Amino acid sequence: MSETAKSRAAALSHLRRDGLVAGDPIPLPLTMASIFHTPGVETGVDQYGRYDNPTWRAVEHALGHLEDARCVTFPSGMGAISAVFFALLKSGDRVLLPADGYHATRAMAERFLKPFGVVCDTRPTPTFLDGGFNGYRLVFVETPSNPRLDICDLSAIAEAVHGQGGILVVDNTTMTSLGQRPLDFGADIVVSADTKAVNGHSDVLFGHVASRNADIISKVTDWRGMVGGIPGPFEAWLVHRGLETLEVRFDRMCSSAETIAQRLSEHRAVTGLRYPGLKGDPSHNLARVQMERFGFLISFELASEQKAEDFINNCSLMQAATSFGGVHTAAERRSKRGDAVPPGFIRLSVGCEPVEELWKAIEASLEKVSA
Ligand SMILES: *Cc1c(COP(=O)(O)O)cnc(C)c1O
Repeated sequence: MSETAKSRAAALSHLRRDGLVAGDPIPLPLTMASIFHTPGVETGVDQYGRYDNPTWRAVEHALGHLEDARCVTFPSGMGAISAVFFALLKSGDRVLLPADGYHATRAMAERFLKPFGVVCDTRPTPTFLDGGFNGYRLVFVETPSNPRLDICDLSAIAEAVHGQGGILVVDNTTMTSLGQRPLDFGADIVVSADTKAVNGHSDVLFGHVASRNADIISKVTDWRGMVGGIPGPFEAWLVHRGLETLEVRFDRMCSSAETIAQRLSEHRAVTGLRYPGLKGDPSHNLARVQMERFGFLISFELASEQKAEDFINNCSLMQAATSFGGVHTAAERRSKRGDAVPPGFIRLSVGCEPVEELWKAIEASLEKVSA
């Protein structure tokens, strides 16, 4: 991580410090309230829970500190992504999405944007720049893409999109603001499923929109207040708490993933291994330029669906589960979820377990399926 990223992470635990008076709790109090004391014609104070809540403000302040941008939070990653689409697009607009990114983003656009007259095209992540961006109001990328871990050039895309008068939205879920900083490369908006590594404990769904453009933030905030797709204060409180250990967890997960990817690359049962941190991976050179770390996701194939299932289910330090970014190492055969990948394709999310113990468990399970 760069020095600025480190100093941002260090300051995170002390954001409340300046506002404290003697006797205040150091940790964030949880405010569960739909109504607030509002005598007379008071403005500029909390009035009603669909518009504001002190616990949201605290988590938005913390996320905004890491993003170096304004943040608006949502009850899920898809809540954040749909807020961007519905608050900023109108009938007749064209949108470009990754053909190989998170499936629900494409499905939502197809089923709910299209009927409103928004034209939705898709393009594969590795060749995302090809064809240019003429006529696109909004271009959406996910890098590394989920689940194949291909990447695309953020600054080249931002420049080309802006040249055609469009806006660039980046789904930064797989990397978090500690691992990759799309706004610094020219993106207009970052969306993130904080359900994953940001919360990190697999007990909450949450999401956020980050932008340095005041007009975008105002439209997305307005959308949330009107539509009522608001985060619960308790979920916001849990994410705030998760954020306090994000740097430690993310650092451990990325370091372990580097070790494990290298060892998987030397294992005879493993094919099609992808990890941006591996020299020789198609994503590696660009990853070194635009990513602060190489992430905690690894993808690879075993010879069959059965071998992949057995590998996951027999590994003592691995959860068979969808999703990623939690403290527990987890893996899933992605064709099960409809991704266009071979039946033995596995997405592995490396967790916080001590790495040598984790590798021993992975190796033992691999040996069983490759005997
Ligand atoms: C999980 C995920 C989402 C959706 O997040 P939810 O919190 O499940 O709505 C969006 N994008 C990516 C890349 C994801 O992995």
